Amino acid sequence: MKKLEAKKIFNGESEFLFGAHNFSQIPKFHFPEIAFVGASNVGKSSLINALIGRKIAIVSSTPGRTRQLNFFKIFGYNDGFILVDMPGYGFAKAKEKHIEHWQKTSFEYLTKRANLQRVFLLIDPIKGLKESDIEAINIFNSLAVSFQIVLTKCDKLKKEELTKVFSELEKKIAKWPAAYPKILSCSSFKGYGIKELQDQIVEILESL
Ligand code: GDP
Repeated sequence: MKKLEAKKIFNGESEFLFGAHNFSQIPKFHFPEIAFVGASNVGKSSLINALIGRKIAIVSSTPGRTRQLNFFKIFGYNDGFILVDMPGYGFAKAKEKHIEHWQKTSFEYLTKRANLQRVFLLIDPIKGLKESDIEAINIFNSLAVSFQIVLTKCDKLKKEELTKVFSELEKKIAKWPAAYPKILSCSSFKGYGIKELQDQIVEILESL
């Protein structure tokens, strides 16, 4: 029952609201926000499109929009909620003055956004955790930003290979205080795991 409801919510009315280069440009909303982050090419745009059932995230890959936070509203749950497509990361490490502007904006968003409910951290299971993923995880843990791992492009792996990736990540997750314990796996191409991700988001919204 719930699965059907989630699909209806995601495949209903949605729109691209705006892209923000600066944290100060982002209006204060009372709508819950769910953010998506990952290394570039991880399959983020494809996943957002698969979630919504149409090519809404195409805007993210148009020139100039890849280094901003893009906000999409989904109307079909209460007053609506927001999906936030964050730019590819590399937030920290470098000395303050060397951190690029869009990285500072992302960091500020994670630090200050009171209505941010969860960050889905997208990982390509073939590439595994990169240094930039670990940097992001360290930031989530230090800021106590609830994050959940979503493995993308799972059609590329055999079942046994995916099981191995899962068990390795589960061991790591146990040591990360801000990590939501359940790992999700998806294939935007084949449609695997999309309903589970939709259900997970609805579960977050229902818990508020
Ligand atoms: P983004 O840069 O993170 O937004 O990633 P895109 O969604 O643009 O995808 C990056 C590349 O991965 C493209 O060549 C996609 O065709 C490919 N890709 C995305 N999702 C999948 C998937 O579910 N399965 C496979 N096999 N490839 C995918």
